[in-house]
Amino acid sequence: MKPNRRPLIAGNWKMNLNSSTAEKLAIEVAAQADKFDLDILLCPPSIYLERVGKAINTSTIHLGAQDCHGNPNGAHTGDISPPMLRDVGCEYTIVGHSERRADHVETNQIVAAKAESAWAAGITSIICVGETDDERSSGAALNSVSAQIHSSVPDGADAKNTVIAYEPIWAIGSGKTPTTTEVAQMHGAIRGFLKQLVGEKSAQGIRIIYGGSLKANNARPLMALADVDGGLIGGASLTALEFIAIAESCL
Ligand code: PEP
Repeated sequence: MKPNRRPLIAGNWKMNLNSSTAEKLAIEVAAQADKFDLDILLCPPSIYLERVGKAINTSTIHLGAQDCHGNPNGAHTGDISPPMLRDVGCEYTIVGHSERRADHVETNQIVAAKAESAWAAGITSIICVGETDDERSSGAALNSVSAQIHSSVPDGADAKNTVIAYEPIWAIGSGKTPTTTEVAQMHGAIRGFLKQLVGEKSAQGIRIIYGGSLKANNARPLMALADVDGGLIGGASLTALEFIAIAESCL
């Protein structure tokens, strides 16, 4: 696919499954994952991280969290810090998912603090950005995503510590996806914003993945686009067959 960027296919299980169905799904994905020359990542609910981590232990699959705190420890009841995530085997964490930005009033500044806090623990941050339906229809999508990139991506972002997930909010869980032209334009623009922020070399190495109603039957043309380096998958990651078929579409 892309010469210097290894594709990443990430499953965001959100607040779904229980301890045994999570383990079963992880085992099913692990049984198939090793045949792919790409990074496969599972992001279960934090309470199941350890169990899923054990289930994928002997496979090449990576473990990730859906969120983290912006501090390494302290008086933050109910929160989970990056060192804790690292302690149970996480290599990645999603930050700034639109559901967290909406449900927990997470600003760009909070998202940037989370991303940096993850880096400090040796965890790669998957920083999510995306426009609303209104922004897309009024022609403000690029400006909205530009503002999110400029304020959510901390200085020092590079290919190792950062992945950007472009997730148009109106496409998440809706069954709607942008056209390939719209995705190509946005990913190209994000690459340009990253160049302004971190310079040409780092920007060229940072993976930009697409998320929003990705399915086995629509993934291939999106994954083939020059600046699309994989996918962040919600609903379709809850079925091993569907998730693996999306991974296949990257090859
Ligand atoms: C997501 O929430 O990250 C996502 C992409 O969800 P879905 O695939 O269900 O649209």
